[in-house]
Parts: sequence; C-alpha cells; structure tokens
Amino acid sequence: MSFQMTEELEDQFRALAYDHTEPFCYSCYRIVGNEHDKVYAVAAQSIEGNSYSLETWDAETHGYFCHKCGSDDLMRHLEGVGVEWGIEWVIESLIESECGLVDEEAAYDELLDELYPPYEIGYSKFFASDILKENDPICYRIGKQEHFDDRVHEGILIECNGSYYTPDCVAA
Ligand SMILES: [Zn+2]
Repeated sequence: MSFQMTEELEDQFRALAYDHTEPFCYSCYRIVGNEHDKVYAVAAQSIEGNSYSLETWDAETHGYFCHKCGSDDLMRHLEGVGVEWGIEWVIESLIESECGLVDEEAAYDELLDELYPPYEIGYSKFFASDILKENDPICYRIGKQEHFDDRVHEGILIECNGSYYTPDCVAA
C-alpha cells in the first residue's frame, strides 16, 4: 500500500482522514472520544504538567486517552471500513472511495492526438496515439507513465496503489 502526492495535498488528506475517523482503543475495543475520555485526557495531561481545562483541551493538539485503560496508543476507526493503526490506510481509503479514477489510456491518447495531427494515406487516417501504441508500445507506456507522474508532482493528480486519481475530495 502506498500513495504519492504533493506535501500540500497530503496535509489536506491527513486532516480529512482525521475528520472522517474516530480514535479507537483496541484493548477495550471501543471508540474513544466521549465525555469520560475528555475528562481523563485533561487529567492525564495535568499530571504531565500541562494545565488544560475541558474548554481549552483540543483533541487534535492534545490527543485522546481511553478512560477505561488509560492508553493514548489509539487506532483510528473508519465507519463501515474498520479499525487499524496509523492514518495512511484512511487516506488510501478516502482516495479510492471519494476521488475520481483517471482512465489513463483514454487521457493519454487524447493528449497525443491533440499534440500531433493524424497521418493520412489515401482514405485511411491514422491517429498519433494508435501509431505510437502499435509501433512503439514501450515508448507509449513510458511516455504515459512520465506524463502522469509529472501531473502528480504538480499536484494535479495523486497516485494510489498504481492508479491515478483527481484530488476531488480536497479540491481547494
Ligand atoms: Zn482502553
């Protein structure tokens, strides 16, 4: 599992992933974040020497604790998907469920056919995309790969598990 995107997009996806999930204690097998957990978090922080009140405590900055076992080593729970450590899997799940999958071949063919005119012999007409694909499939494949990787570096597309997506769900 892996994804590629600009740092700026990753920050947005990370924030979205936290928004879409809840902290989850695996030992107690429960979603964390009710009033008891908040009170516990404030108390646990005050032992550490930080003085927050329930009003000034902020989940994102100060973190949750499970009030039943005292753990702050929490998983993330994504409704309908499951629980797991880390946040990367949530980002991947968001990409694959919320973002538009790019039809690479169609998009690259369209680009080639805009860049190069068709070749005509008599009544026959050959498109640049077909000519390259038929006669130099390796060049076609490499060119396609480079084209989409460039779009990823520009922040126009994101790559996830070998496919490209438009970052619709975090569109600025
Ligand atoms: Zn717990």
